[in-house]
Parts: sequence; C-alpha cells; structure tokens
Amino acid sequence: MGKPLSLYDNYTRTLRRFEPLHPGGEVGLYTCGPTVYDYQHIGNFRTFLFEDLLKRVLRWNGHRVRHVMNITDVGHLTSDADTGEDKMEKGARRTGRSAWEIAALYTDAFLEEMRLLNIEDPTILCRATDHVAEQIDFIAQIEAKGYTYRTSDGIYFDTSKQPDYGFLARLDKEGLEAGKRVDLGEKRHPTDFALWKFSPPGERRQMEWDSPWGRGFPGWHIECSAMAEKYLGPWFDIHCGGEDHIPVHHTNEIAQTQAKAGTRLANFWMHGYFLLMNDAKMAKSAGGFLRVASLVEKGYDALAYRYLCLTGHYRSQLNFTWDALDAAQTGLDRMRSGFHALAADAGAHPDAALVERFGDEINDDLNLPRALAVAWEALRGDRPAAVRRATLARFDEVLGLGLAAWTPQVPDVPDDVRALAEARAAARRAKRWDEADRLRAALATAGWEMEDRPDGYGLKRK
Ligand code: AMP
Ligand code: ZN
Repeated sequence: MGKPLSLYDNYTRTLRRFEPLHPGGEVGLYTCGPTVYDYQHIGNFRTFLFEDLLKRVLRWNGHRVRHVMNITDVGHLTSDADTGEDKMEKGARRTGRSAWEIAALYTDAFLEEMRLLNIEDPTILCRATDHVAEQIDFIAQIEAKGYTYRTSDGIYFDTSKQPDYGFLARLDKEGLEAGKRVDLGEKRHPTDFALWKFSPPGERRQMEWDSPWGRGFPGWHIECSAMAEKYLGPWFDIHCGGEDHIPVHHTNEIAQTQAKAGTRLANFWMHGYFLLMNDAKMAKSAGGFLRVASLVEKGYDALAYRYLCLTGHYRSQLNFTWDALDAAQTGLDRMRSGFHALAADAGAHPDAALVERFGDEINDDLNLPRALAVAWEALRGDRPAAVRRATLARFDEVLGLGLAAWTPQVPDVPDDVRALAEARAAARRAKRWDEADRLRAALATAGWEMEDRPDGYGLKRK
C-alpha cells in the first residue's frame, strides 16, 4: 500500500491528508481563471499547469473531479484598492476593439495555449458576464445580513463585521488599520472591497448592467464566490489560484461566502507560487512578457515548458531562464525518443514497485520533481522494454507529456538528402563504418546533420 494523498492547505498552513467531502462522489475543484484583457504569460500558465497536475493526481488516487474555472471578463480593476480602471475597458482601448471582442479573442487564445500544454479543459468553464444575475443575488443576500455599505461609487463589503477576516493571509488587521494612509476615499476600512461598482456618472461603460443599487458592474471577487457556489455549492473540496490571490482575492472570496453561507468555501486552499523572470515578477513593462506561443516561435516545444514546470515544486517560486528551458527541451526529447525506442506489448503491465514509488512522490503534496526522477529510472532501468514502456505510459497520465501520442517529426527533407541518410543508416546497421562516415560527410556538405537515435535517426539542418 502506498502513501495516502496529502496536500498543503494554506488556510490551516498544514500538510493535510486529503479526504473527499463526498466519498465516492466527485471532488469539487475551483480554480481562478484568466483575466481576458490580454494574452496570458507563461507565469500564468505555471499556475494552470500546477492545477492540471493536481487534477491528474486526484484521478490517480481514484477520484472523479468536477473542475470549475471562471473566465474573468469584467470587474478586475487595475488596482486591488478598487480605485483603478477595469482591465477589460483598458484592454479595449489599447487594442481599439470592444471589451466583448477582446474577451472572446483572449479567451480563445488562452484555451488554445492550454491545449498546447496538454492542460485538460475544465468540466465547466464559466464567464463572469454570463453570471451577473447570480452575483447580484449574492450581494443582495449579504446586504440583507448587514455586511455592506454604500459609497458614491459602489456597494462595499464591511470587513470589520467579520472578526476572522483575513485569516487565510494571516492579515494584520490592526496594523493595516493603524497604518492606513489618507487615501481611503469613502471606504471605512483599508481592507473593505467593492461588491458592485457604479458606472461613472454621465458615462456609458461597454459592460454594464442594471442592479437594485444602480447601473454598473460587479467587483472581481464576487464572481468567484457566486460561480463557485452555483456549480459546486458553498462548501467543496479544493480552491486554487496563484500565490498573489492569497491576501486579497481569495481572502475576499472567503469573506463573502462566510457572510452568506457560513463556510470558508473550500476545505483546502492551494496556491501555485510564481514563475519569475530574471528573479523579478513577469511584467510587460520589464520586457519579460513571454507567451507559450513565443516559446513555440523560437523553436521550442510547448511541452518543454510543461516539462520545465515539472522540475520545480509548485510551492517554490521558479526562475525562468533560457538555459533551463533548453535543458527541459533536451529532457523531453530524450524521454520521448527513449519511450518510442521501447518495444510495445499490449499485454505488458507497469512495474508495481515503480508505480508505488511514483505514487508516493505525487501523493506527497505533488512532488513532481521527484516523480520525474522515478520516471527516468523507469526509462533507463533493466526491466523488460515492454514493462518500462507500460510503466512510463502509466506515469504520463499524470505528467501529461503526451509520450504515446508523439511521433518523431520528419522535416521537409529533399529526396537526395533522404537517400543519403537511408544509405548511411543501412551502412551503420551493416557496420560498414568507413562508408557510414563518408555518407555523413556528404550529408554535411549538403547542409544536413544526421543524429543517430536508438529508434532510428533524425535529420536537421546545420
Ligand atoms: P490573471 O489573468 O491575472 O487573473 O491570472 C491568472 C492566474 O495566473 C492566477 O491564478 C494568478 O494568480 C496566476 N499568476 C499571475 N502571475 C503569475 C506568475 N508570475 N507565476 C505564476 N502564476 C501567476
Ligand atoms: Zn477567483
């Protein structure tokens, strides 16, 4: 018997054994999705990869997962203090398109890049703008319980009404209160946040709705509380997002749901730690905004980035470097070609001892770096080839590197070059080394480099 699944819960700040709230039923998983005002960068995708791995690990443990992800297409302001502009309206201005158009454009781009990374689609993908009625209803219910107040620009949540507000982030409320600077506006406390913002007087926003309080749009946090409850109920298994969500977004989701339903929404709160670029936050302004598509344009495999993310634990920050990506690409290439060099046998079973060790690593709070080392052991060990192949195929259900689906890429090779390569491969097989060397030189003169692989050969331009 291997180790049971343990996950690190940021609410209790402990590594806890994972027991589903509904044994035998579906595990409820909510992950905060992208704000679709721009492309997602590879940092964002590190968090989505962590969540995908979590889902696969849950399945490895025999659970069925109901995964809900939102698309934030309204209400996410440029400042966490509820004073900035809506990122969508700003993105619309930047691109000269409507807010609705950019939402569709960047949602599609996001989903396409998710698929390039072998990230599975969520069970339910829900847009904030499709759930405005639910958000209004949610706000009305917490208003009825006395948690809200009105200012000239919106309806706010009064965080002083909750003694344990900020517990997730271990916020120092007194410290924040004492140190508050003048610029609170009409907010009563620094941690109070907008539930509903009014459209600016005399202005028509591209995205706005009528509400009992006036025309406007929902705040960012309320969308997640409302949609999570709609699709998973107010008490479900796991809620995830990036580490930046701990002090504000997730803290406020918990506050809202606690006010309405008396729960902290999820039994486990898990966070993916940041991908850094040159040890700094990934930001456009720093010239470090990389997309999955940018890596592909440079000739990397999207899955090399997935491989790179497997080499770091999700609870540590990971510094992105091109050297690290090169190493990941090499690792991926070797694992793929090694896998394909192993003879398949439909009757072969994975090696039980290796499967147990792999399971122990992933069940230890998703220790993918160590699980990856077990995968290498499986590939290189001295077990029969078909067993090694079956073992790796089983591991790949979690790793998601698409090993079985991969086929060696055949570049567009001219016929005469192909003929030289075939002749050289035949010479090598017959151990006619002089002839093989002569043919390699002829290929080089033609501008091609031939790489000998266990499963055949590769050709690339020099
Ligand atoms: P956003 O589109 O800003 O709503 O972010 C989408 C997801 O990416 C959220 O879960 C964020 O917490 C996460 N995220 C943002 N920046 C990074 C980063 N540099 N590394 C890892 N995750 C990030
Ligand atoms: Zn959220």
